[in-house]
Parts: sequence; structure tokens; C-alpha cells
Amino acid sequence: MADRIPLALVGIGKIARDQHIPSIAGGDDFVVAAGVSRHGKVEGAENFTDFDEFLAARPDIKVVSLCTPPEVRFDMAKAAIAAGRHVLMEKPPATTLGEAEALSELASKAGVTLFATWHSRFALGVEPAKQWLADKVIQSISIVWKEDVRRWHPGQAWIWEPGGFGVFDPGINALSILTEIVPGHIMVQKSVLEFPENKKQPIAASIAMRTVEGAPVSAEFDWRQEGPQTWDITVQTNAGELRLSKGGSELYIKGTEQASGPDREYAGIYERFAQLIRSRQSDTDYQPLRIVADSFLCGERKVVAPFED
Ligand code: NAP
Repeated sequence: MADRIPLALVGIGKIARDQHIPSIAGGDDFVVAAGVSRHGKVEGAENFTDFDEFLAARPDIKVVSLCTPPEVRFDMAKAAIAAGRHVLMEKPPATTLGEAEALSELASKAGVTLFATWHSRFALGVEPAKQWLADKVIQSISIVWKEDVRRWHPGQAWIWEPGGFGVFDPGINALSILTEIVPGHIMVQKSVLEFPENKKQPIAASIAMRTVEGAPVSAEFDWRQEGPQTWDITVQTNAGELRLSKGGSELYIKGTEQASGPDREYAGIYERFAQLIRSRQSDTDYQPLRIVADSFLCGERKVVAPFED
């Protein structure tokens, strides 16, 4: 306990409570020494309602973990980097590629660690899937990511606002796995974005992409799925089918289950963050964000029925 690194958790909402607090407590590397949130609090830590106040009051806390929505992340990350703190960012790392790339440059100049996390990349099946695919020829990829927004984002008005990502908030998790397991760039060819009449961000998206080698990649994102939830990626190769199910936590190769076990996504994130800080490195891969941006650039807008949260 004594040699754990003190950390400030910022934006005490659903993901901070569900994942960050228990994962930090269950690991060996960090202790939550401060919470920064206008309404939320972290039990047993010093709590602040203003981020700049925290930065000024606790120069001894060298590490911050930003669990706020993306729209406020750039200003917070910039201030933290300028104050010499190491920064972990929840996904998506920022609202635009411009902001994300500027943060990488600022962190590099300041000599601090910046970690743009993609929690789905730490799902159990992802690393073995990447290894298996490394010497195969990919023929096609199909992503189906359908969940119930009312269940996973209750009362989160920000998610429907510009910069809130709409259905790309979960969809970007699939894209983070895709860009991890497939070598080389993935290019968007066209997309259809479904906007409810009363919302500013899409509730569903259908994206046609391809690998550099020309293999087709399709993605179907939908936030209207009630009942069983679907988070599947299926890859057809010259050596048979690979399927990642349940958000990457289950891996099947030619129909046989390869990996299973308890979820360690956020435990893995904090272990990696500690390694990055110790080795004075950053990890900022913005490929998933680029695919989202390209999907909006190529997007055909369709207006669909109003949606009430
Ligand atoms: P949330 O429940 O809305 O919590 C975010 C917290 O950030 C809020 O409770 C709020 O706390 C604070 N905040 C600061 N500025 C804000 C602003 N302008 N608008 C709204 N809240 C603001 O959201 P969340 O689900 O935890 O998501 C936060 C981030 O984690 C997002 O980037 C999301 O993509 C990611 N994430 C979410 C999930 C999930 O299942 N929900 C899973 C993985 C990752 P105060 O009011 O106390 O300041």
C-alpha cells in the first residue's frame, strides 16, 4: 500500500464508480488520493469540485485519470499536462482528432505520460486474436455492436449532444478492437447515420470499410437493442473463422472457444498505465477516433423516429 502512486480520479460518474474505483483498489499500483467532480465524491479521498483548484492544492498528486465525457477532456488534460501531471484519458480521448493530436504533442514536450485508453483492447480474447490473425489472410470482417442505450447510458444527456458521439460512443469500442487485431489501416468507404428526429447525434450507423489489402469490413451499430445485447466481431480468413464475442471477452477459432475468464479490462488499463509512467512513455493511438471522424465525413444522414431516453 505504501508504495502505491497517489492518483486523482476526475468525473465521478458511472464508469468511475463501476470500473475505475474498484479496479484501482484491486490492483497494486495506484491509490485514489483525490476525487474531482462537481457532484460525485470518492469515499476516503480528499474531494474537490474544481479541477484547477485541485491542481493548485495537491502538487504532490502527480497522476490524474480523466473519466469525464470527452467534451471537457481537452481543457482538463491540457491543464494537467502543463502542471506536470501524468494523464490517463477514458475513451474517446477527445472530441476531435485535432484536440487528440495536440494533447500528444503537449505531453511529449512536457515529458509526461499520456495514455489514451481503449478498455475493449484489454478484453481477454483480443491479444490472442491478434496473434492468431498475424499470419493469416483476412478475407472479410463483420462487426455487429447492438446495445440498449437506456441500460448503459441512463440520463446521460451529453451523449446526444455534438461531441457526445451518439452510438459511436459504444461503437468506438468495436473499432478499437478492430484496429488492434488487424495490421495496417482501415479505410471508410461509406456510411449511413440514423439520427432520431429529436436528437443531435446518431442512434445507429452502418459503415462500409476495407483493409489496405482490399478485404471488406462492415460495421452495424445500433442503440435500440433491448433484450440480449450483441457485441460481436467475425473475421473470415484463409485458415477459417475467428469470432470475438461479448465485447472481446470470448474468442472462438473455427467454432472452438479459446479464451475465457473474469473481466480484467480496467485492471489491465491501470497495470499498463503504471508501466508507461515507470518507463516514461506515452500510448496514444487515435485510429479508432479517425474511423469515427471518417464515418461522419462520408456519412449519409437519415432521419428516423424520435427516441425518448
Ligand atoms: P457519466 O455517468 O455522465 O459520468 C461522467 C461524469 O463526468 C459526470 O458524472 C460529471 O460529474 C462529470 N462531468 C464533468 N463535466 C461534465 C459535462 N460537461 N457533462 C457531463 N458530465 C460532466 O458518464 P460515464 O458513463 O461515466 O462516461 C464517462 C466517460 O467514460 C465517457 O467518455 C464514456 O465514453 C466512457 N465510458 C463509459 C462507459 C459506460 O458504460 N457508461 C464504459 C466505458 C467508458 P460531476 O457532475 O460530478 O462533475
